[in-house]
Amino acid sequence: MPRVLLLLPTTTYRAADFLAAAAKVGADVTVASEEPSTLESRNPAGLLTLDFRKPEECTRRVVEFSRAHPVEAVVGVDEETALAAAAISLALGLPGNPARAAAAARDKALLREALGAAGVPSPRSRVFRIEEDHGAAAAAVAYPCVLKPTFLAGSRGVIRADDPESFRAAWKRIAAILRDPDVAARGGEAARRILVEEFVPGAEVAVEGLLTEGALRILAVFDKPDPLEGPFFEETIYVTPSRLPPATLDDVRRTTERGCRALGLEHGPIHAELRLGPGGPVVIELAARSIGGLCSRTLTFGTGLSLEELILRHALGARDEAPQREPGAAGVMMVPIPKAGLLEAVRGLEEARAVPDVVDVVISAHVGQRLVPLPEGSRYLGFLFSRASNPRRAEAALREAHSKLVFEIREPGAAGG
Ligand code: ADP
Ligand code: CA
Repeated sequence: MPRVLLLLPTTTYRAADFLAAAAKVGADVTVASEEPSTLESRNPAGLLTLDFRKPEECTRRVVEFSRAHPVEAVVGVDEETALAAAAISLALGLPGNPARAAAAARDKALLREALGAAGVPSPRSRVFRIEEDHGAAAAAVAYPCVLKPTFLAGSRGVIRADDPESFRAAWKRIAAILRDPDVAARGGEAARRILVEEFVPGAEVAVEGLLTEGALRILAVFDKPDPLEGPFFEETIYVTPSRLPPATLDDVRRTTERGCRALGLEHGPIHAELRLGPGGPVVIELAARSIGGLCSRTLTFGTGLSLEELILRHALGARDEAPQREPGAAGVMMVPIPKAGLLEAVRGLEEARAVPDVVDVVISAHVGQRLVPLPEGSRYLGFLFSRASNPRRAEAALREAHSKLVFEIREPGAAGG
């Protein structure tokens, strides 16, 4: 069987779906993760410890590993692993993204530079260093604007400011996130930067695509029907297919293609987010990975292939006419954390699951977990999934299911009951 190297960070939501896909595709799997597993010595072909922050070191180790266990495909499951995936693929002679392209897709400041240089619509932006005077920064930018770290995900630390006062408050909040030891270690030099962008109004879509030698195939476009006006940008509902007119979707596709070309992305999955600004689509994000969380479970192709199976088959060299997304509409709601505290109980699961068109309710937070809402937090309470005859119904089912759920959260400092 061909061997796939899966780069799976310990914090990823994507592990189960990629492992299930590998089993169905019929590949031997080596799982690489940042933390050494006690099982590694007993399963030397199956487990590998890699520090994804150090692509050269990862490459050395994998090249050595592949002498005994030839690796035929390398798949990074999220942004943490995109640089290492590119470097390893190059060293093994496998198709992948050039290092520069992976770096630009990984770092929001480099992304803005690459898009701007190629004339691809992207918010005006400016990078500040956290030791700079934030009062001077607040006086130097135009409003409304969005402040963000350059390397985090899931809207963590993304804050809108409408005036110098809210800018200074947002800056302090982001600086505190960047000082968190885990975040600082993960970001390295990038944890010393704050990116400030022009706020782009308008509806937002997410695009899932697959690049083959530079050619982009769009797998799905999701509408995000909840308004994303800030000050924080909670991801909630994604529904596919998009309800936008075909001409607008054509613009979205063209702009995404131009974005991929501007970065030099060539091979493998991409996930993009675009706002439909007054002058047309604007690229907010373009990453060399597939959709995050458990959201890919909304997508099924052909006779029941998952997105992960599609990605693995593609990485293993399958170039057959790729199957279409199954007919009908599907949606997912990432359930945001409403307030900080300890999760004490979750009620209403049966009722939520019983809502027509709801196909699954997954609570990923566990009772006893300390919950941190945006902009500091990075987890969800769970995921709701729907399938329906049309997008409107898929969306309505998610809202109804969400309304049935009750999360009992004990706020810090509140008396216990
Ligand atoms: P992350 O990688 O953490 O998801 P993004 O840069 O994609 O960070 O920002 C998260 C969300 O914040 C976006 O999906 C969008 O809704 C909003 N956002 C970010 N930047 C802008 C901007 N310049 N204008 C308008 N909205 C923005
Ligand atoms: Ca994003």
